[in-house]
Amino acid sequence: MTDFDTLIVGAGIAGLTAARILTGQGLRVVVLEARDRVGGRVWTSRSDGEIVDFGASWIHGVDGNPVADTARAFGMRTVEFTVGSYQPDGRPIAYYSPSGTRLSDEATQRFVSDIYVFNEQFATTIAASEANTSFGEAVETTFTQLKWDDDRAMRVREFLRHRTEEQLGVWLDDLDAHGLDDDAIDGDEVVFPDGYDELATHLAQGLDVRLEHVVTRVTWTPRGATAETGHGAFSADRIVVAVPIGVLKSPEFVIDPPLPEHHSQAVDRLEMNAFEKVFLRFPHKFWDDDVYAIRQQGEAGRWWHSWYDVSDAHGSPTLLTFAAGPCARETREWSDEQIANSVLDALRGLFGDHVSEPDRVHVTRWQDDPYSRGSYSYMTVGSNRKDHDDLSLPIENVVYLSGEATWTDDPSTVTGALKSGHRTAEQILGRRVPYDTLWAGHNE
Ligand SMILES: Cc1cc2nc3c(=O)[nH]c(=O)nc-3n(C[C@H](O)[C@H](O)[C@H](O)COP(=O)(O)OP(=O)(O)OC[C@H]3O[C@@H](n4cnc5c(N)ncnc54)[C@H](O)[C@@H]3O)c2cc1C
Repeated sequence: MTDFDTLIVGAGIAGLTAARILTGQGLRVVVLEARDRVGGRVWTSRSDGEIVDFGASWIHGVDGNPVADTARAFGMRTVEFTVGSYQPDGRPIAYYSPSGTRLSDEATQRFVSDIYVFNEQFATTIAASEANTSFGEAVETTFTQLKWDDDRAMRVREFLRHRTEEQLGVWLDDLDAHGLDDDAIDGDEVVFPDGYDELATHLAQGLDVRLEHVVTRVTWTPRGATAETGHGAFSADRIVVAVPIGVLKSPEFVIDPPLPEHHSQAVDRLEMNAFEKVFLRFPHKFWDDDVYAIRQQGEAGRWWHSWYDVSDAHGSPTLLTFAAGPCARETREWSDEQIANSVLDALRGLFGDHVSEPDRVHVTRWQDDPYSRGSYSYMTVGSNRKDHDDLSLPIENVVYLSGEATWTDDPSTVTGALKSGHRTAEQILGRRVPYDTLWAGHNE
């Protein structure tokens, strides 16, 4: 007999959720985590008293969302910030024309109403699209059907491109037409002024988590599994592999025998994106006080087109923007200073000399992170939504894949990660388990 009946690789939200439920039900569980911290892509920096979420920021819709319920039960503070899903309106958003002047309310309304008209037709186009249609092709088909002139189509086309980049960190021709099907949000969005990582810390409480245990090889038979780490091998009846899809694809993470074809083909069709956060903290605000987001239209916004005023959550005047898709790839080798200067140039096109030098800049580097290899997964052209759920099918009741990429209805999110970890625990236990077992008996 080994010390454990269940190994879990990865102390992200999926792995921790599965571990917490299984441990609570009396299983002997150990979590093997490569990093020196828990949380994975939920990662809060706390240097010099400044709290900055380098990974996830938002709960994309709190209604009926177990992440919101869990965070509430753990006593985590939230701030409403319903602009995290690239909504065209609903909260104050300052749009700027290609020449840098702020759009009037009427011009904004015309633009936003065009987006709604487009989206209605777009949903029909996507539903009717054949396999192997890209998101970009579906966009163009929709414009053909709408018969808009170029001028009218241009800004909406650009909006779609920006949305694809910001939501999934991918160029719209590289995304499957169904890649944003699961993008609906229910209720307000919120962020965490005290850091999203509190979710991971609370979930990890009382669990056996071994940090700095990099798993390089998983071997398995119908009778059990072994994970090899630099600190020796761990064996158990079963293993939950809750690492990002980028790690699953990498030659440095071997599963032997390899995943069955059904699983490996789904892995092949999903990809990790290119998506980085850039935070700029300024000595004072030079933008309007009452806007959630600032958006630049036209060529000037080719890379830097959207800024989010996260001052309330940060407690200091701070803008967040994203290097997403092609921009993230092209700026990958740039220094933080080069990136900040490029962003500041773009801001000067809108606010001129009012733009001050930032006193703090943070740029994330998820593309270079060996334990994530990108920020989150997206559906390449030719994949289908079911690929996510297919990945979660238990393999001989010994190997279980878990994590955001294995959840169809809300992939690429913390919600998807938590729900997938919960499902994995239920698969192992062979019965339903309410979400509230995650916080039952929790001590502040
Ligand atoms: C910049 C950014 C912004 C985001 N914004 C949002 C947002 O606003 N809202 C939202 O809902 N989602 C957001 N996400 C996505 C969200 O963070 C993820 O979907 C979610 O956290 C994934 O959780 P997971 O448990 O599936 O994977 P992970 O968090 O990646 O956990 C996997 C764990 O496995 C570990 N690991 C990897 N390789 C090994 C190995 N060889 N051996 C041992 N351990 C290993 C990793 O270190 C990690 O801890 C964002 C992500 C990023 C990066």
